[in-house]
Amino acid sequence: MDFKNSEKLYKKGQKHLVGAVNSPVRAFASVGGNPLFIKKAKGTKITDVDGNDYIDLVLSYGPMILGHRHKKVEKAIKKALKNGYTFGASTKNEIKLAKIVCDAFPGMDKVRFVNSGTEAVLSALRLARAYTGNDKIIKFSGCYHGHSDALLVAAGSGLATLSLPGSKGVPEGAVKNTLIANYNDLESVKAHFEKHDDIAGVIIEPIAGNMGVVLPQGNFLKDLKTYLETKNALLIVDEVMTGFRSKFGGAQELLGVEADITCLGKVIGGGFPVGAYGARNEIMEMVSPLGAMYQAGTLSGNPIAMAAGIATLTELKKQNPYQKFDEVAARLEQVLKEKANKHGVDIVVNRFGSMINPFFTKGVVTNFEEAQQSDTKKFATFFWALVKNGIFLPPSQFEAWFLSSALSEKDLQKTEKAIDLAMEAVVNK
Ligand code: PMP
Repeated sequence: MDFKNSEKLYKKGQKHLVGAVNSPVRAFASVGGNPLFIKKAKGTKITDVDGNDYIDLVLSYGPMILGHRHKKVEKAIKKALKNGYTFGASTKNEIKLAKIVCDAFPGMDKVRFVNSGTEAVLSALRLARAYTGNDKIIKFSGCYHGHSDALLVAAGSGLATLSLPGSKGVPEGAVKNTLIANYNDLESVKAHFEKHDDIAGVIIEPIAGNMGVVLPQGNFLKDLKTYLETKNALLIVDEVMTGFRSKFGGAQELLGVEADITCLGKVIGGGFPVGAYGARNEIMEMVSPLGAMYQAGTLSGNPIAMAAGIATLTELKKQNPYQKFDEVAARLEQVLKEKANKHGVDIVVNRFGSMINPFFTKGVVTNFEEAQQSDTKKFATFFWALVKNGIFLPPSQFEAWFLSSALSEKDLQKTEKAIDLAMEAVVNK
């Protein structure tokens, strides 16, 4: 396997693109080597510009839950394209997708579509502030909620990958209302409420996927919600990654928790740029044009994205792959542990539904601090060995691997073999 064309494009791309990429994790910075440039994808396979085929466990960081170019999604997109691409006026399909989304989340009467997860979350924070009249927001260390100023502190994803504590260019004023708590530690949330009486709410990834996969322990989310009710503060559940992925009704359905405001993205756009935030009527009626909280978008509710989203969610509901996801992830967990054991490598495997990833450490990983104990050099070796054996996974220890419902028995067998070889590479390094 060689990567000559990717290498050429990487060199060429650096002239007019920052680091030859449009999103930092794509630069492969923490695993070294040149990033792969992709030519095409279909089903569970993704093909780079050198013609190398991989089983895709990135799935564009989550959206492609049915696999790439699902027949029904593609048909819906082609049909929508014939009617035009964007109108700056409302369409029937926005109403249709809104109903599918609201029906899936019991705490959501109304939804507003935007163009990315970042936009969904920053709008949700504005809404929480508008509704409560309070300014402060608590976020958890290691959770990533997009790149808006107020949330670029103690964040996971690319910031964790690049070991950045925050971002330059974020004014102090923009983060002065952001308080940081520890994941799975309700006491750290309570400590903020004891100090401040102007907290609008808490934002959380219900299953964290941006520090690697980290699960809420016991009743953490339910207890958090109960506590916030006593403080008249809102629970903002960021389901950009988990919405329609953990379950059709997101992690909330699985964990039995109802958010005050839910953020969505990724899967609901079927591969096109979409985000959304939704809540019960009383909260959503704060949003313009009904209320005084302003938020808008030229391309919001884009017809092609709506068509792709409707087709994806309709097919997902029909397939109901959640049991299969659990079985496949359980099998991968077992293989990862077995092969690590065989080669004498310490790993911890965290998984939830169709999100899974191994940490190269001992013990448990229940928060960002523990996630950061992982040996990222070992991860880098593991990563490249998997790539060279035909598996494309996120080029970072701090990103989840995603499963699609298209994965076949053959794909799984190939993945298992590659994991064996990759664990061997880790010890031989
Ligand atoms: N929230 C979560 C939980 C995410 O995982 C992400 C992206 N990985 C975002 C928000 C931001 O979404 P986007 O990249 O679409 O802006």
